[in-house]
Amino acid sequence: MQQKTLIVLGVGGTIAGLASDAGRPQRYVAGQLPVRQLLAGVPLPPGCSVQAEQVAQIDSKDMDLAVWQALLRRCRHWLAQPQVRGLVVTHGTDTLEETAWLLQALLAPQRPVVLTCAMRPANAPDADGPGNLRDALLVAATEGARGVVAVCAGRILAAADVQKVHSWRLDAFDAGDAGDIGQVRAGQVRCGRAWPEPVAADSAVLERFLAASELPWVEIVFSHAAAGAAGVEALRAHGGLRGLVVAGTGGGTVHHALHAALQRARQQGVRVWRTTRCVHGGVPPDPAAELPAVDLPPAKARLALMLELLAA
Ligand code: ASP
Repeated sequence: MQQKTLIVLGVGGTIAGLASDAGRPQRYVAGQLPVRQLLAGVPLPPGCSVQAEQVAQIDSKDMDLAVWQALLRRCRHWLAQPQVRGLVVTHGTDTLEETAWLLQALLAPQRPVVLTCAMRPANAPDADGPGNLRDALLVAATEGARGVVAVCAGRILAAADVQKVHSWRLDAFDAGDAGDIGQVRAGQVRCGRAWPEPVAADSAVLERFLAASELPWVEIVFSHAAAGAAGVEALRAHGGLRGLVVAGTGGGTVHHALHAALQRARQQGVRVWRTTRCVHGGVPPDPAAELPAVDLPPAKARLALMLELLAA
């Protein structure tokens, strides 16, 4: 039987992090161990071989355009190779959901691209990275799997839904009301929901994203008690602002003083999208509302607005 090839792309994160004192793993530096070393001792799914490539070595809190471009290029390259069954990306947890959303939006792959991570550094006595990487490889090798997903703590979550919801638990991610795609239990992948749809992405937007030296400037502002207009006015006065995402209260409501400032920004050509600062529930999309609503969490809504501005 022909071997299936899995590609593992290393980007950094706590999964590749090292603590200077393994007995105190809370103090560590992310993005230290090469991806090849992460694979040492991790069992491969039956009938699979693996190739590893270091794309970047960062703490994902510092994710930037250049790393996203490099990762997109390598994903596109490997997804075009017929012998490749699936990709795994080892990534930090902090911005994993943004990278996952972006890869799905721009590549919409027919094969699986599985982002995995860890909450404890690689040299912690009870490191969670090796188990997560083993599970991610299993998902990438699964017949019928496709699209961008995250695998962490035995859970499989779609790029559209995944959000980091806990700052220190090993099971740090959630998929909200959509629920998980499935689980990896005792070496078996079990799915309860469909894999992400390979909805054809606009290849012109991907090309523009890859060629960009900077992304359209879009900021996130929060609505909160005693909110005012000064923050939005200052951003607007700076010049060059293209878009604003307002993380509203509850169902996407916005303090009246902030709302007035956002309306003024819109009148001057700044695109304004509204969402909610609530982790669960979302906001029903309403493109006809005074401030159009989008059913994405703020960080993903910001990316979506950037892509829309790139497409224009
Ligand atoms: N700061 C780390 C990162 O996102 C956190 C982690 O990976 O858990 O790279």
